[in-house]
Order: sequence, then C-alpha cells, then structure tokens
Amino acid sequence: MSRPKRRFWRRSTGALAERRRQNAAGDEFETRTVHAGQEPDVATGAVVPPITLASTFVQDAVGDHRGYEYARSANPTRAALETCVAELEGAEHGLAFASGMAAEDATLRAALDAGDHVIIPADAYGGTYRLVARLHEPAGIAWTAVDHADLDAIGGAWRDETKLVWVETPTNPLLTVVDIAAVAKLAHDRGARVVVDNTFATPYLQQPLGLGVVHSSTKYLGGHSAVVGGIVALRDAELAERIAFVQNAAGAVPGPFDCYLVLRGIKTLAVRMDRHCENARAIAVLLTEHPAVAQALYPGLPGHPGHDVARRQMRDFGGMVSFTVAAGEEAAIKLVASTRLFTLAESLGAVESLIEHPAEMTHASAAGSPLAVDPALVRLSVGIESAEDLVTDLRQALDASG
Ligand code: PLP
Repeated sequence: MSRPKRRFWRRSTGALAERRRQNAAGDEFETRTVHAGQEPDVATGAVVPPITLASTFVQDAVGDHRGYEYARSANPTRAALETCVAELEGAEHGLAFASGMAAEDATLRAALDAGDHVIIPADAYGGTYRLVARLHEPAGIAWTAVDHADLDAIGGAWRDETKLVWVETPTNPLLTVVDIAAVAKLAHDRGARVVVDNTFATPYLQQPLGLGVVHSSTKYLGGHSAVVGGIVALRDAELAERIAFVQNAAGAVPGPFDCYLVLRGIKTLAVRMDRHCENARAIAVLLTEHPAVAQALYPGLPGHPGHDVARRQMRDFGGMVSFTVAAGEEAAIKLVASTRLFTLAESLGAVESLIEHPAEMTHASAAGSPLAVDPALVRLSVGIESAEDLVTDLRQALDASG
C-alpha cells in the first residue's frame, strides 16, 4: 500500500494535531522514530533533516518570512527534533534545550511563580534537587521531597500553594517506580500540574498519559554518549507557551548539530531499548545471585516493590540497574574501578555500558542533604554489548570486590 504524502512542517508548535490527523495516526512507534518530523527536505529532497546552521533568515518584507527569523527563536533542525519527540510522546508541543537541566529549569520557571510550592521525589536526580533547592528556592519557590511511591506522603505534603508534582520514574539512581496515573489523579483533583522526567524510561517504554514530560536527551534519546541536550513534550498549550517564552527569552537552546545527533539517535531508539532491557535483565539475575551484593534494584525483578506498577505502565523495565555492595563503601569504590567492559563514567543511556558510584559522582550534589545516596550503592547503565560478555565482566569484578 502506498504511503500518503507527508506535508513538510517547519514549526512543531501547533502543527502536530493536524499532521497526525492527516497521515500519522496509524503509525507504530518504531515507524515514528524513523519518520516523525523528518520528512524529506522540500528544497533538496534530502532524506534526513539538513543541519541548518544559519543564525538568521531572510524576510521578504518586514515580518514576511518562511517561519524562521532568528535561530534562538526557531531553527529548522531543532523544529524537526521538537516535532519528532512530541509525536513519540503523544504530545502536541515539543521544546528542545541545551541540556536536560535547561529543560527542567525552563519547565519549573514556566509552571511556578514566587510563593508556589512543588513536590519532588525523595530520590530525585541530584541535579534536579540542586536546581530546586539552590536556584528556585531562593527565587521564592517552596519545595518538599517525599517518597512518590507513597501516595499518602504526597497528600501529606500538600499545601494550598502546591502547583506542581515533579515525578521521576524509574528514579535515578534507586529505580523507584511511581504510579503515574495515581499521582496524576491526586494532583489533578487538587488542581495542580504533573511533569514526569521520562529520561530513564523513554517514550518507547512509557508514555505518561499526555502529562508534561521532560528528558535529558543526553541519555537514551541521543543514545551514543555524544551530545548533551534536553527536551520537553506536552499537550498543555498554556504551559507550552510559557516554556517557549523561557526558551526564547533565556536562550538555552541546543545547536543544530546537537539536534541532528539526537534525531539520529532516536531513529534506533526502539531497537536499542529492546537490547538494553534484555541485557539489564541478565545483569539483574547475576546481582540477585552474587554473594557480594546486598540488594539488587531493578524494576524487572519480581521482588522489586514497584514491579507490578512497572508492569502496568511500562512496556519493559529499562536498561538501568543499581545495587548495594554488601562489604560497603570502600568495596563499592574498588568495584567500579575494576570492570573491564563497563566503563567508569557518569551519564547513562548509551550503547556502551557504564558503571559509577552515585554518592561521589552523579549524586554528589545531594551530599549532606535528605536526598543523599547510600555510599555502598553502584549504578549500572547496561549497554547493548553481548549480555554474556557483560555478565562475565561484572562477575569478575564482584568476585574481586569481596
Ligand atoms: N534527569 C535525569 C533523570 C537525569 O539522569 C539527568 C542527568 O543525568 C538529568 C535529568 C539532567 O540532564 P543533563 O545532564 O542533560 O542536563
């Protein structure tokens, strides 16, 4: 059957609903990863979006232009990425940023005014905690960190000024699973918004019910440890407009080459995620069996407290696995330096397997705070190498750690 002709959209915002009605409604996720926002270029026929480096665009008369004026406000390569991620998340609006933190910052600024209150997860990503506690609190935003797996705790933290619940699921680094539908009901019943950090799950594994979604596209979306970026996708037109205002006014936008790299990564997202999940399962089994491990944290393990919720709201359980080392901090630090295939490095979500010590690396910013991480914890970003090789590598490091 021949495919219907796709129209070329230069701007993501506002065009998505019509485009989806026209031709994309039936596309499966894997098809959208390859094509969404990436129709052949109308000018040249190029089958991947050109990297448009221009910082400014011609106007035939004042205000008479082809959708682009100045590249901080909008850029065609960025628009392709924004359209793509919005479509993958089932959203209407996509807004790309220079990093995941820039995307988070813009979302918080747009959703909250001085005097408002936000509820964040007790084990939020350390950078999210730092952003809220060190930048937004001094600007008049109150916050409370509670265990999001405990709905009563969220209800107990509620104030008249609560305007936002910031959800992360699975969380970084403890892999707590949060019941998105239940939190959304609780928040919406009280007139507050919910934003989900979907970095660990990606839209392939989890699409949070059309709520606002943020990503560090540095991770699985980019997928190759080669780009830093962030993106917000949402249906809420009012919030999208406010975020777009921050995006343009503060200007933390990604460059066109970075957008191209993320788009290129997204094309293989589904196949990569399947492999990440398969390999993570094999690693989780090793961890549950090895005597050097005190506790294995992986939502795919039937004993994980969030396993049932994860089964309900995720397609699979992801590529991130954490564990605590029975012999404590020193053994954990020794272990992360003794793998051969797992590379000792921060970040996650790329094709190569990484290992790290959150307390002193990714989550050092939470040290001394209520969000501080157990120093015996090790976090793995399981890549797409051979599962057998990965298991062998980790087993030798665990054997040596004792
Ligand atoms: N959200 C989560 C869950 C993360 O893991 C990270 C980074 O590790 C971020 C947000 C921040 O993203 P970036 O490093 O691209 O600013």
